[in-house]
Amino acid sequence: MSKVIGIDLGTSNSVVSVLDGKEPMVIHNQEGGRTTPSMVSWTAEGDVVVGASSKRQMVTNPKRTIFGAKRLIGRQFKDDEVQEMMKHLPYDVVQHTNGDAWIQVGDSSHAPPEISSFILAKMRAVAEDYLGESVSEAVITVPAYFDDVQRQATKDAGMIAGLEVRAIINEPTAAALAYGLQTGKDQRIVVFDLGGGTFDVSILTIEDGVFEVLATNGDTGLGGDDFDRALIDLICDEFKEAHDVDMREDSVALQRLKESVERAKVELSTAMSTHINLPFIAANAAGPVHLERELSRGEFESAAKGLLARLEGPCAEALSDARCEPADIDQVLLVGGMTRMPAVQSRVVEIFGKEPSKGVNPDEIVAMGAAAHSGVMGGELQEVVLLDVTPHPLGVKTSGNRMSVVIPGNTTIPTRESKTYATTEDSQTFVTIEVYQGPGENVKDNRRLGRFVLSGLPEDKAGKVRVTVSFSIDADGILQVTAVDQATGNEAKVTIEAASGLSAGEIESIRDRHA
Ligand code: AMP
Repeated sequence: MSKVIGIDLGTSNSVVSVLDGKEPMVIHNQEGGRTTPSMVSWTAEGDVVVGASSKRQMVTNPKRTIFGAKRLIGRQFKDDEVQEMMKHLPYDVVQHTNGDAWIQVGDSSHAPPEISSFILAKMRAVAEDYLGESVSEAVITVPAYFDDVQRQATKDAGMIAGLEVRAIINEPTAAALAYGLQTGKDQRIVVFDLGGGTFDVSILTIEDGVFEVLATNGDTGLGGDDFDRALIDLICDEFKEAHDVDMREDSVALQRLKESVERAKVELSTAMSTHINLPFIAANAAGPVHLERELSRGEFESAAKGLLARLEGPCAEALSDARCEPADIDQVLLVGGMTRMPAVQSRVVEIFGKEPSKGVNPDEIVAMGAAAHSGVMGGELQEVVLLDVTPHPLGVKTSGNRMSVVIPGNTTIPTRESKTYATTEDSQTFVTIEVYQGPGENVKDNRRLGRFVLSGLPEDKAGKVRVTVSFSIDADGILQVTAVDQATGNEAKVTIEAASGLSAGEIESIRDRHA
């Protein structure tokens, strides 16, 4: 039987891991790195390069080097976060015919799952090189706060990469699994995960091999890229004031600056100040202009003040949903590269009242958890049970476009809940059930997952006919919705298969193109 690999498909970096006996181990890529940049470039010759070789092209080939595709996966072009993100991207994001955000490279446009598929295919090749055998199955992690559409889009990326995706699991749950197996202690832990593009916080208990997620919360629009952008804005605003040139309008200058501020940000995690030096970064009427500047940790922290403040809300909500006080938490695990920033660590201490654990590698623990999960599914690690939650409320549209929640966020799955609704018009013979996911009170702020019709209702006055809508989610997270007319027992149901925006035919044709 071939091995199932665990892949942490990160916004900035990806990691692949496999079980060695009962121990998850991280596999080195062909360049010797344990993490691989989640970057894909199209060279002038039309070749596709992935990982470190793509990162090297960032400055010279900015419009054809795609980073951060995870922030676009499963998203609509009109989404506020996409619009905001586009202001700082050297490459072009366009609206596909179905409204999704796609990426334009030269004459062709690409769906974000296609970009992710190149990264997954690279991770698969890394594992195959190491194992000396072909690999066809994977467990892939996603932020806990991803909705069903983003999860499905990630699954599609796996399919395009020729992988059977055995499971999509939440990054914090994966981290807790790897950590819990390492320590073997019963405890209540917080996983605080701040990566390149997303922030997740989950609270779990580990007891006798049962890993139960009590609550999860987060912000899919908050990550290291935003900290980079805060620095880019600080420097660009100053530069514009001094030299009357906006570097954000020049893709090469912007890419050089992005690379440089990210390096500065990383240095400021250990040093109190750093130097940014970018000669010939731009030109104005007087000729070439250079950027040279000292940047102190204090300046960076004050530029990032608003972002640091956004870490608190999700933590407070997760604590309240888990019915916990900070004092109930035994351990805080830091995951994701951004948790190395001292100001982020201080926030963690302020919020949870304790020093976070130093014992785990924040870059690798998620992939190790994915490999551990493959072991749970394959039977190598029998002693473990994982109980996860559904992160967002699920419900139906009612009059006035309001969201009527049937399954609240943070409900442990599998689960089943019902609600009864009355007709709103006289002689109404059918109802349309529209299923939505999200925290908004108005459905327009949420994701529509599907719709179906229950017809043949008995004719009666408005409010007299009652329809019970039941939602059930199985252990794999598959949602089924049933509507039953209380008077006749007539029933209609639908299994919600979140659409990623790509049809089966489109997935097939992208696969053929890559073959
Ligand atoms: P991840 O998605 O977990 O790989 O996180 C990557 C993010 O963490 C990127 O935005 C990196 O710039 C950032 N990062 C990595 N190392 C450090 C560090 N030492 N200090 C601050 N940020 C870092």
